[in-house]
Amino acid sequence: MRLVFLGPPGSGKGTQAKVLAEKKKITHISTGDVLRSAVKSGTELGKKAKSYIDAGALVPDDIILGMIKEILRKNKKGFILDGFPRTVAQADSLENLLAELGLKLDAAVNLVVSDDEVLKRLLGRFYCEKCGADFNVNTNPPEIEGICNKCGGKLIQREDDKEEVITNRLRVYREKTMPVEDFYRSRNLLLNINGARSFDDVTASILEAVGYVYDNL
Ligand code: AMP
Repeated sequence: MRLVFLGPPGSGKGTQAKVLAEKKKITHISTGDVLRSAVKSGTELGKKAKSYIDAGALVPDDIILGMIKEILRKNKKGFILDGFPRTVAQADSLENLLAELGLKLDAAVNLVVSDDEVLKRLLGRFYCEKCGADFNVNTNPPEIEGICNKCGGKLIQREDDKEEVITNRLRVYREKTMPVEDFYRSRNLLLNINGARSFDDVTASILEAVGYVYDNL
């Protein structure tokens, strides 16, 4: 099973991708998570990427593509790419990289959510600095404000979940990433899912749509 997940920041694609990857026992690859962990551990990759991430801008392709190449080689059997591709050029490169490995993408799951809803969700989003668990004050609040239910760690906000940065991330999404939908639509791979519903309803729709693709491969 080889999938990409599309959708604006805050559409829930990261959490949904994680759930699907666990259910299907394939690797969930979030380029944002890989980059953030590189920044945290101060690697060369992290040093190069930090200023772009902090500004809500896209990290240049030469950095991202080297990283993706390495990741695909290690996960030929199955993966969900979350946060990549983010431009038509990246989608093209992904197609070529997969072809080099003799592989093809099975579907592109696209979570559709309005800007207003996305803004509300992102401003309410927190994660545990200790175990990484995700929370949202609107949809999945912690039992005690500011404290992780799972490990008692402190809940913090991502640097790029501040309002000015979110506005820029949404603009970048509209200009650079939305055209990727057409790229996959023209290849009959796009699965549009209404992401503005309860988490479980969205999961059920994704499972149904993806199941249909595999039944018909
Ligand atoms: P995310 O967690 O997917 O929202 O990504 C956080 C940030 O990482 C983005 O705002 C970009 O700065 C960077 N990033 C993640 N994936 C990519 C990508 N495919 N291309 C360029 N930049 C990326």
